[in-house]
Amino acid sequence: MAEHDVSDGARPEIAVVGAGPAGLAAAERLAGAGCAVTVYERMPSVARKFLLAGRGGLNLTHSEPHERLLARYGAAASALELALAALPATALRDWCESLGVETFVGTSGRVFPKSLKASPLLRAWLRRLAEFGVAIETRTRWVGFEGDRGLTLEGPSGRFVRTPDASVLALGGASWPRLGSDGSWVGPLAGAGISVAPLQPANCGFVVPWTPFVSERFAGEPIKRAALSFEGETARGEAMVTSDGIEGGLIYALSGRLRDAIARNGEIRPMLDLRPDLSEEALTAKLAERRGKSSLSTHLRKAASLSPAAVAVLREGGPLDENPAALARRIKATPLRLVAPTGLDRAISTAGGVTFDALDDAFMLKRRPGTFVAGEMLDWEAPTGGYLLQASFATAVAAAEGIMRLVKR
Ligand SMILES: Cc1cc2nc3c(=O)[nH]c(=O)nc-3n(C[C@H](O)[C@H](O)[C@H](O)COP(=O)(O)OP(=O)(O)OC[C@H]3O[C@@H](n4cnc5c(N)ncnc54)[C@H](O)[C@@H]3O)c2cc1C
Repeated sequence: MAEHDVSDGARPEIAVVGAGPAGLAAAERLAGAGCAVTVYERMPSVARKFLLAGRGGLNLTHSEPHERLLARYGAAASALELALAALPATALRDWCESLGVETFVGTSGRVFPKSLKASPLLRAWLRRLAEFGVAIETRTRWVGFEGDRGLTLEGPSGRFVRTPDASVLALGGASWPRLGSDGSWVGPLAGAGISVAPLQPANCGFVVPWTPFVSERFAGEPIKRAALSFEGETARGEAMVTSDGIEGGLIYALSGRLRDAIARNGEIRPMLDLRPDLSEEALTAKLAERRGKSSLSTHLRKAASLSPAAVAVLREGGPLDENPAALARRIKATPLRLVAPTGLDRAISTAGGVTFDALDDAFMLKRRPGTFVAGEMLDWEAPTGGYLLQASFATAVAAAEGIMRLVKR
């Protein structure tokens, strides 16, 4: 790129904005290739969401065959294909091990560091970045563009402009905004004529208009080993009743589909199977066993092995016909009334973001040559299972490679 004019022998100067996994991965690749890299991060410390992700067990990626992994990105799979081929799950595991952090494959095929935590990995990673000479300026926020290549930043001593040879924006989505990624980049990008699909919660819970009995008595209670079906898709797993709704892996698995259906049609009623391991016939037979003087709730708990929370959710589906066959039918298909997704504040990730038609194959903004975008701020979504970090790393490395091609021309 002629106007970038990196003079012979000079180290290209690269700005990376956002010190989440995407920004740090881009910084590592660029600094490892000899660039002078400065990372700007608005928070007082780096990678807060990555550290939080490690609290529940850092699911780095997934061990399933590559084609299956690619399909997890749905409509965005073709836009991510090259990046994921260049940095597949095996390469991400190798990278982790190269930092001295061993990984293992869990029973579900998910890949985790052996300690399950993110902090040892982050510590080793930051040591490597320091060895590579990466400078990290925290408490420094990107607020907009200046001219063709300039970035306007706001640090502890006020506003300033940097004009690097190229830059990577890796500002994350908008979930858990108190960790730093609040989606406030949408305004400046849209103002520069860059197309951004609306940010929406992904892997999120939903609002359920529970009766006070359920919200007061069962908030925080799990519904274990259930199945949820909607529009021909079924997921299995565990859900958690909250005071105003429902969340957890079972719900997250279908959350994109559920969210889009609510946006189209208003409230929806997917079906919950509270005993997916038993057929309706087997359940009917169990419920037909002698009930004696037990209340219906006790009978459901004992004969159908439902937890008190599951019985409460079953009752929320409407009056119960006490006939064993009717009860079994309801246990296998309890309507769950979902009225809205819970907000971005509590979502695991964000759908929407910079659209792929605004970018070239290396995620460079077509309207701003030299500015690349990576990570969750791009317009893709995926279920939990390690796919979020996998794509965040892969797009960052692809952007870094794109910069290397650009500055070495
Ligand atoms: C509770 C929880 C658990 C999770 N667990 C997993 C998991 O196990 N596996 C998995 O694959 N994914 C998981 N995720 C998702 C994963 O953490 C994210 O997809 C990933 O962190 C996205 O990386 P990123 O670098 O694109 O964005 P982020 O990690 O959000 O980083 C963006 C950075 O940019 C900074 N920033 C934002 N705006 C500005 C600005 N204007 N100027 C300067 N800096 C700015 C932010 O402060 C932040 O540090 C989890 C998420 C949550 C909330």
